[in-house]
Amino acid sequence: MTSPIDLHCHSTISDGVLAPAAVVDRAYKNGVRVLALTDHDEVAGVPEAQRRAEELGMTFVPGVEVSVTWADRTVHIVGLGIDAADPVLQKRLKTLRDSRDGRAQKMAARLEDMGIEGAYDGAMAFVSNPALVSRTHFARFLVEAGHCKNMQEVFTRYLGDGGPANVPVRWTSLQEAVTWIQEAGGAAVIAHPGRYRFSEVEFDALFTSFKEFGGAAIEVITGSHTRQQFAQYADVARNYDFLASIGSDFHEPGSRRDLGELPALPSDLTPIWHDWTLPCLEFSR
Ligand code: AMP
Ligand code: MN
Ligand code: MN
Ligand code: MN
Repeated sequence: MTSPIDLHCHSTISDGVLAPAAVVDRAYKNGVRVLALTDHDEVAGVPEAQRRAEELGMTFVPGVEVSVTWADRTVHIVGLGIDAADPVLQKRLKTLRDSRDGRAQKMAARLEDMGIEGAYDGAMAFVSNPALVSRTHFARFLVEAGHCKNMQEVFTRYLGDGGPANVPVRWTSLQEAVTWIQEAGGAAVIAHPGRYRFSEVEFDALFTSFKEFGGAAIEVITGSHTRQQFAQYADVARNYDFLASIGSDFHEPGSRRDLGELPALPSDLTPIWHDWTLPCLEFSR
């Protein structure tokens, strides 16, 4: 169960624990030959990852995972094949990062009200890029300090959407995220659709709007989906005529799914890379 293509993962530039070059090394060791780095709301890791991938003879796809608020809930849109040097894209992503520090302080205050001291400094101790503090960093602190036994418990008890210590942010809109990605030369992909708690009607509206705005693909195979969800979202790709993407959403060694640890896409789907040139794979899908 190894995929030579992995189009979703994180480095220390956002909430992963490995530096960009180390992510690439690990992916290569695991058999990945086409890799996209998709840090949350930030593309600063792309040059380092790209250099390392070139040294190893891998195909590197510059990416990003954009935080979006849709129907009052957070949705993640991955951009693949973007120009990470595009100053307009960089400026747009910075507007998303700018809301993170204030939100982190509010989350720490809520945790303090619940008897957990020092969460802001504790989370910041896990942060490599001070502009990008995320709930993941709080989760690492809460586990390390013994307040929760694992990350899952943190999100169930405190920080999940709607959780008592979660402070919702108004991220960018779905339409803007798709536009930002397209104007930077990339293709927009709905990340891990199985993670969103939407009704059938809401999902239909999400997929239909995304398509209208020019969205290209959905993640069918992701580290966040169960086997049943692989099949469910393969059907969504067929029904809405989306291209299909695949990615581990790797954040750290020892977690749910490692880089490249994924089954293949169902063979009747059109993969997002159907029109890419992939010199390091002898097959094109
Ligand atoms: P943020 O962008 O600050 O809202 O943080 C979102 C991040 O939290 C996601 O990208 C995941 O890495 C992490 N996350 C969300 N839910 C969970 C969960 N149930 N278990 C582990 N990590 C999660
Ligand atoms: Mn994350
Ligand atoms: Mn995500
Ligand atoms: Mn992700």
